[in-house]
Amino acid sequence: MKTVTLIEGDGIGPEISAATVRAIEAAGGKLAWERADAGAGAVAKLGDPLPQATIDSIKRNTLALKGPLATPSGGGYRSVNVTLRQQFDLFANVRPAKTIAGVPSRYTNVDLVIVRENTEDLYAGVEHYVDPRRTAAESIAIITRFGSERVITYAFEYARAHGRKKITLVHKANILKMSNGLFLDTGREIAKKYPDIEFDDMIVDATAMKLVTQPERFDVIVTMNLFGDILSDLTAGLIGGLGVAPASNIGDNNFAMFEAVHGTAPDIAGKGIANPTALMLSAAMLLDHVDQRDAADRLRKGVYAALGNAETRTGDLGGKANTQAFTDAVIKAF
Ligand code: NAD
Repeated sequence: MKTVTLIEGDGIGPEISAATVRAIEAAGGKLAWERADAGAGAVAKLGDPLPQATIDSIKRNTLALKGPLATPSGGGYRSVNVTLRQQFDLFANVRPAKTIAGVPSRYTNVDLVIVRENTEDLYAGVEHYVDPRRTAAESIAIITRFGSERVITYAFEYARAHGRKKITLVHKANILKMSNGLFLDTGREIAKKYPDIEFDDMIVDATAMKLVTQPERFDVIVTMNLFGDILSDLTAGLIGGLGVAPASNIGDNNFAMFEAVHGTAPDIAGKGIANPTALMLSAAMLLDHVDQRDAADRLRKGVYAALGNAETRTGDLGGKANTQAFTDAVIKAF
């Protein structure tokens, strides 16, 4: 039995979390939950969007499942998502994109994973105005060998563990010869240690086009922070949007946080009609991560079956089922 910190989150978070916990238990997942507050709900309750008790809980358990969080605007609060990422040095953001039968999308044959470096690049926070009148500003992209090595190595290990055959490293080293060149050179070195995994590289603009014209060409993509941010939303679009996109954030010392990519959906919160697919698929990644693969496969099978049937799809996907009816259908299909 693994103990996991459960952050239900704001808006639809509690509804999709309850549905997901129910489905995990029915799938045979052996997880114990330690509930913790974060986001706007935590501000209202405890006056802090990321209470120390929540940080301590994640430190203790090293694993978290997280619903969407609303970052309160004003009041000088930083994004809780960004703070969590930095606090636990969650350096790899893993976003699978797989076509799901029944979910409306333009493509039928997508099955790829983006591994995005999550701590460096233009998002390292090195930005300043160049002149006192603030008419010019610069942002500096930091790429280190250390940061490149750990995320690229993670991508190769992920590929091996998940039976993936090929890694494509995405960059712009033809123009950004030093920073992106360092990332590419590091990737070429690491690839030599994994002769069982095919390796190639592609310039980011060509990748954007190829993802749209030939998505089946890709298996695992590893890339830097900015390109990964953009391309992972693009690939979510290939499979029907952010509402069905799961994610994990992986750190050193076994820290891992699993989350739905969508937001708090305030327009439908409290109505019992939210689609729990993204959080359920994130939970399946969590079960894989803790080597409970049978439960993970069962959960995915149930979600795909419920989405494959027009009767049991939720409203956002053109169906009529509410969260509970969808979850019943997931569990029935195990
Ligand atoms: P959103 O993803 O919450 O909503 C966009 C649209 O998609 C809405 O119409 C919503 O109803 C729908 N939707 C989203 N998830 C759904 C689901 N599971 N089932 C059915 N419909 C769903 O994006 P937004 O409106 O831009 O953001 C709302 C809030 O969420 C903001 O406070 C934002 O900061 C926060 N947010 C949090 C995260 C996160 O915690 N990871 C990510 C994005 C946005």
